[in-house]
Amino acid sequence: MKKWREYERLVSALTAEEYDKEYTVIPNARIKGFISQRKRQLDVLVEYRFNSDLNRRIIFDAKDRKRPVDIKEVEAFEGLMKDVGARRGFLICSNGYTKSALRRAQEHIVIKLLSSDQIDDISIGSWDMCRSDSCGDGLIMWDLTPGIIIDGTVYIQATGKCDSCGKFHIWCWSCGNRICIDYESELQCSCKGPWFWLTSIEPDCDEIGEQYESHYLILVLGNGNYHIMDRRPI
Ligand SMILES: [Zn+2]
Ligand SMILES: [Zn+2]
Repeated sequence: MKKWREYERLVSALTAEEYDKEYTVIPNARIKGFISQRKRQLDVLVEYRFNSDLNRRIIFDAKDRKRPVDIKEVEAFEGLMKDVGARRGFLICSNGYTKSALRRAQEHIVIKLLSSDQIDDISIGSWDMCRSDSCGDGLIMWDLTPGIIIDGTVYIQATGKCDSCGKFHIWCWSCGNRICIDYESELQCSCKGPWFWLTSIEPDCDEIGEQYESHYLILVLGNGNYHIMDRRPI
């Protein structure tokens, strides 16, 4: 794997460890900028898992550079934060930052150092290949979700997102299958548990009035109840 990509994925993995399960961590996200109206690439996007809440939107930029991060990069990052409506941002750099960059960052931008040595300590070997036929080299970041209880039995499910095509994945712990679920479709695992999965694009409207859309991953139970398991803004 290319080194910069590995660095980005490691930042995603570390981020996922730091946040509560009510947050979803999306590696290599692409969302529409509110100001630019264009798709913006984000190395890591952290969002509220169940609903739209821009107050909780946090973005990460992973800069694996030979030189320190400078003031211009902080300003460009601040522009990106504004465009996508992120309240907080983290600039992760591998080779330090200048004093003026740190001053310019102020409170809403955190500059963090993550050196190559630290990277060597962590492994993303557990990341799986994407299961979509149309995806080239995507990797899945798995997320253990709280167990779902049906008729007194706890079913533990893991869900994941591809870092390339963005498709949701499901790891069925009843039978061990790992499956990719397409955009806007339904899927039942071959073990035929009392549930099925659904993906759909839903409009999101934040309290501050910004409108956008998200892909939702929904678990529909046999009794008609459903749970939002994950979401990914687009
Ligand atoms: Zn993929
Ligand atoms: Zn199954």
